Amino acid sequence: MSVGYVYDPIYLKHDTGQHVEVAARLEAIIAYLEKTGLKEQLTLIKPRPATVDEIALVHTREYIKEIEETAQKGGGWLDPDTVMSAGSYEAALYAAGGLIRAVEAVMGGKISSAFTLVRPPGHHATSGQAKGFCLFNNIAIAAKYALAEYNLERILIIDFDVHHGNGTQDTFYDDPRVMYISAHQYPFYPGSGDIGETGGGAAEGSNINIPLPAGCGDSEYLKVFEQIIVPASRRFSPRLILVSAGYDNHWADPLAMMEVSTSGFGQMTGTIKGLADELCGGRLALTLEGGYNLDALAASVKATFDVLIGNSFEDPLGQSPRRAGTVDIDHLIGAVKELHKLP
Ligand SMILES: [Zn+2]
Repeated sequence: MSVGYVYDPIYLKHDTGQHVEVAARLEAIIAYLEKTGLKEQLTLIKPRPATVDEIALVHTREYIKEIEETAQKGGGWLDPDTVMSAGSYEAALYAAGGLIRAVEAVMGGKISSAFTLVRPPGHHATSGQAKGFCLFNNIAIAAKYALAEYNLERILIIDFDVHHGNGTQDTFYDDPRVMYISAHQYPFYPGSGDIGETGGGAAEGSNINIPLPAGCGDSEYLKVFEQIIVPASRRFSPRLILVSAGYDNHWADPLAMMEVSTSGFGQMTGTIKGLADELCGGRLALTLEGGYNLDALAASVKATFDVLIGNSFEDPLGQSPRRAGTVDIDHLIGAVKELHKLP
């Protein structure tokens, strides 16, 4: 079965001016997929705008109105990091709708897995607040949509962006149907993501934070996947896996202090694909969050697609020139396993 991707030039209309989260990110990815011939191996899924009712599965009507009105006024800053232009509301509707279309394609069985190449990103946006370059929480909206539309009992969200997805955690903190697992640099922006944030009420245990120290690379992430994410996913037994795919933990990224290589992202994707194949008939949809070094982003997104397709892949950037040795995270892994009673 083919691997799908969601893309549309409408995502370039979210104009952030002088910023790290820019339209050139998507242009670099698409150009690289074209240059390497990979795009021809993928099936294009056309996005649609999410409806206001769909956005309201996660966000308040007042907040949605505020975003619409800010666009109508030509844009403006919503928080110290997050800016809008006239085209941002429409782009944001299509970003959420793009992931909904990916979920529909995967659930319909026409596509084995899909990756939505969208912006603005989403995982920092909360019900009533834009944050960290994010307007609407694309992955939370798509998960709520999938719960309602397909009556799924359990959805797993894996978030490997270097930042904690505070908005996604908030949305499902008390919802036992959605397990949220995040590995992120900590302490770091946005401040949430402590190991002790484990879910509320009946959802106790369905929120797993793996707060990593700076300096972690491929081997540490591999350990986190093997020792925490894989056993936790098996125990949860999801019907669908969604992924907040952020590439700002690449060693070349300007925002964070991690040392992951393009090969490391390929390995992570392989593990996630293996979980989807084993647990939920391969049903897997990824969405782009961060990643701000254009070369590293394009190569890592291509590696992700290559692994989804089953191709071998190249790592044109190689390993971090700074990395001197591994970071000891055994104590952290032990603490997370004990807290969540993982085997
Ligand atoms: Zn990020």
